[in-house]
Amino acid sequence: MLAWQKHKGQYGLVKSECDIPQIKSDEVLVKVLATGICGTDFGIYKGYREVDEGLIPGHEFIGEIVEVGSSVTGYEIGDRVVPSIVIKCGTCPACIDGFEAQCENLKEIGIHIDGSFAEYVAVPQVSLHKVDMDLDLMVGASIEPVAVAYSAVKKVSQFIAGKDVLVYGPGPIGLYTAQVAKIAGAGKILMAGTSADKDRLALAATNYGVETVITDTDDVYTKMNECFKHGKADIIFECTGVAALVGDMLPMLRPHGELILVSVYHDDSTVTFLPAGRGELTIKGTFCYTLSEFEYAIKLATEGMIDFRGIVETTTLDKLDEGFEKTMSKQAIKIVAYCN
Ligand SMILES: [Zn+2]
Ligand SMILES: [Zn+2]
Repeated sequence: MLAWQKHKGQYGLVKSECDIPQIKSDEVLVKVLATGICGTDFGIYKGYREVDEGLIPGHEFIGEIVEVGSSVTGYEIGDRVVPSIVIKCGTCPACIDGFEAQCENLKEIGIHIDGSFAEYVAVPQVSLHKVDMDLDLMVGASIEPVAVAYSAVKKVSQFIAGKDVLVYGPGPIGLYTAQVAKIAGAGKILMAGTSADKDRLALAATNYGVETVITDTDDVYTKMNECFKHGKADIIFECTGVAALVGDMLPMLRPHGELILVSVYHDDSTVTFLPAGRGELTIKGTFCYTLSEFEYAIKLATEGMIDFRGIVETTTLDKLDEGFEKTMSKQAIKIVAYCN
């Protein structure tokens, strides 16, 4: 089968001819129909996120079951599935608490085991979610990042309806988070990004009716004063992935405001915590999602509540490297590759 592998010390992924995976008894073999490129994959592609030699990345995908392991129940050949990246052990304290993403023995598809940048992938039953046969493949391959956004918005502990929300970073996760916040009833939503993100901010303004601010040319505080009731945000979603910006965001919150750290950070930063103490702010992390949150994300995405227009561009699996270069250079927001 065609697959894209990571080789140590080498830039990018290598298009290879690999064997179709052999499934274990608790796994199904999924024929990948469409798969998306995620920011996490950039790290693997560029090499700053280490993975095993020869790993096949990819974790945002929709596929069809072509083989079922002997101990798998409730799934059959022909079922259409959207797996989640999280493979829980099911028995550790975090799993028992219902927080699969914090599983002590967590394995992630496309990071710890081979993923979806291939024609076939072996998926454990615990990660499977069934979807309708006629679900649009682009939508199916986009459910995983929507689940990340869903879980981020669910982390907010105050009643979000009518609240003023600042979404920092208009990447795919930021764009989905803004939409989920809107569905949840947020009042004014302001999206912040740099001038390199101009087109993404314009898309958000047009398609979701949010306010926008360009941080390297405009003053965020002036903009917050214009559009937020109390001149500051009740809730901030940090979606830039730039740890150095986190400290800047604390003074942007109203007293008792909440900062949700949606990004996965690979760098460190020094933060002045004084505003956090004085304002009795909440700083909360979020990572992936629970299986239940994934199910609700499927609902939002498949019932037309998420607007994918302008976010996703499509290509084919054999041109995946071009898709990587296009998204990393910000010529595209999100690439979904179809596997013919
Ligand atoms: Zn992802
Ligand atoms: Zn566990």
